[in-house]
Amino acid sequence: MEDWSEEYRDYAQGEYYSDPSPFHISTKLIEGCSVCDKGGLLRCDACYVVHYCRRIHQYAHRKQHKSVCTKIKKAQQAKLRAGPDGAQDWAHPLEDRWPHRLWIIHPMRQYLTARFAVVKLQMKLNTRTAVQTALKNILDMLNERRQDDFYLRDLAPGLFLRLGCDQECYDFVKWWTCRFDPRKTDMDTPYVDIKDADMFEAPDIFMEDTRPHVVPLLAVMLLKIRLLINLTELQRVKREAGPYVPQEIQDLITIHVVSPVVAAKGESFQRENLVPPIHDLKRQIRRLYDAVHKANKYIWLAMVRPGNHLTAMPWYSGTGTIQEMQTKLPYIYNAWSESTGAIGVIEELQKETRSCE
Ligand SMILES: [Zn+2]
Ligand SMILES: [Zn+2]
Repeated sequence: MEDWSEEYRDYAQGEYYSDPSPFHISTKLIEGCSVCDKGGLLRCDACYVVHYCRRIHQYAHRKQHKSVCTKIKKAQQAKLRAGPDGAQDWAHPLEDRWPHRLWIIHPMRQYLTARFAVVKLQMKLNTRTAVQTALKNILDMLNERRQDDFYLRDLAPGLFLRLGCDQECYDFVKWWTCRFDPRKTDMDTPYVDIKDADMFEAPDIFMEDTRPHVVPLLAVMLLKIRLLINLTELQRVKREAGPYVPQEIQDLITIHVVSPVVAAKGESFQRENLVPPIHDLKRQIRRLYDAVHKANKYIWLAMVRPGNHLTAMPWYSGTGTIQEMQTKLPYIYNAWSESTGAIGVIEELQKETRSCE
């Protein structure tokens, strides 16, 4: 096989699985320069996803950035070598005719593996550009090929959430949970044709599976926690403003406090009593907490104290196992740690659970 290369063999044999670059816990996405978070017009011309305000900060950051940056560049090059011919094969049923033992060196497989390696490395960088680029790569890959070899559908939710694209995240997770049919992976079935689904709806659809996957549950739960925090804040502001503040002023305050999703509910939330929706969200969150625990009993302990789990990167990840937790937690952890107050809600729920036992 002429397209077999030493370097590709590294990927095929799992170099990308056990990518040793460290996991950096983030409490806020880096918007500008990776050294001072200001400016950021200068972009690293090897990985294209890290920014600097000026050359001197780029030099200062080089030692720290070099390892992951070089890996991204290498994986990009491997991807370019495998594609676009590899990518074009997707349209044909060629893969079915390939003997299984050769599948690993199929050009499409090489292309996908290299592209997956790029995405996983980009996800380790906590810049907005890196997260945006990784998400775009994932969505393109899923769009081109519904047969989701790497379970990319579990990588996207955390990235949507980190970018504040809550509605898009909900629509995406809901489609993969309710509409995706593994028997119909052809390109003719409409893809993510759910738009503006109601995020306040009961979460039962995500819990119906006897062995539900943890990532969709964790994503939906974080979305609901964000709504809860938002509504509680709105309630506080409304109380402080008191009943004598004219409606127009109250509306103005509301606009500044609420998230776009809550704002879309507009009228109703601005005028109505917020106690019932807050109560309902709390109940939903409690149910999701239990559902996550049922799906994988290791998640909540690790969410509060992640320790080495974020860098464990095990090979095997059967549902419900500690390895599954170690595989999936890094996909979504930073979305949680960047949402102020979210992990605190988990600690509260843990306390509640303990006192009930
Ligand atoms: Zn700087
Ligand atoms: Zn770079």
